Amino acid sequence: METSSILSLKKPEPNLNVSDVLCELVCPVCLNYLYPPIKQCATGHTYCEDCFQKLTRCPECRAPKTEARSFVLERLYNKLTFPCKFYDEGCQVLAKGVNIKYHEDGCEYSMKRCPLRFNNNCKWQGKKLELDLHCKKDHSTNIYFESSQTFKCKDFCSNVHRKYYILFSVFEEMFRCSMDINEEKGLVRFGVYLMSKIRSLGKFVYQLTIKKGDTELEAMSVKAPCIHLTDDAHRFEKDKYLIFKYNMLKEFCGEAGDLYYSVKIIPTAP
Ligand SMILES: [Zn+2]
Ligand SMILES: [Zn+2]
Ligand SMILES: [Zn+2]
Ligand SMILES: [Zn+2]
Repeated sequence: METSSILSLKKPEPNLNVSDVLCELVCPVCLNYLYPPIKQCATGHTYCEDCFQKLTRCPECRAPKTEARSFVLERLYNKLTFPCKFYDEGCQVLAKGVNIKYHEDGCEYSMKRCPLRFNNNCKWQGKKLELDLHCKKDHSTNIYFESSQTFKCKDFCSNVHRKYYILFSVFEEMFRCSMDINEEKGLVRFGVYLMSKIRSLGKFVYQLTIKKGDTELEAMSVKAPCIHLTDDAHRFEKDKYLIFKYNMLKEFCGEAGDLYYSVKIIPTAP
């Protein structure tokens, strides 16, 4: 009799406390939740991708970085439901692993600095949902709402180091178009960057057309992908821009020394 009553007892399951599990899913550098790809050092300490890229060695044990990922933590991540990281700013969205990352990337409550702050040292900071309004109000001459625009770079031929930043607010996405004229190095760098990372990456290319003087004739035309600017810095990232010889572009200037060019942003998917 006694034996059978012991057998009918169910062996207890390991006890799971969700907040204990969540503690293990925090990146020790930025203190945000880890998300795939979850990278690790040779010993096994885990970091988020953004922090991992900036590290030279593991800050916890000094072991070298590896290409290995923690698939167990990644699977766990995808089973959990997270609040949007802009909860404190007012966002109430909750979603599972991958979906929350996608949401946060374009969350209207995410905090942004002014993408045109390098033009006039603008100090604006605010929620993404207020960004469009700010740019329309304070940078109305530097923001465009049509996907194709022709520009005049005044006095292109005068020898100074200059940078130009222009915004495109099109296809429900913000793009920053940057031109950096470095006469000293004899180079001009050009790029069109996506302000959001996950949602729109790979979905847009841009076409840069240099005109012959102030005519509609094309001197040259190049297509390149719109790439995300990883640290939102104003410097041009290596391998992510087009490079032209300054002297070559000078040849295409009009008589007054101005360079005319057009930029068109093109969605790649239908
Ligand atoms: Zn991190
Ligand atoms: Zn380590
Ligand atoms: Zn949100
Ligand atoms: Zn601003």
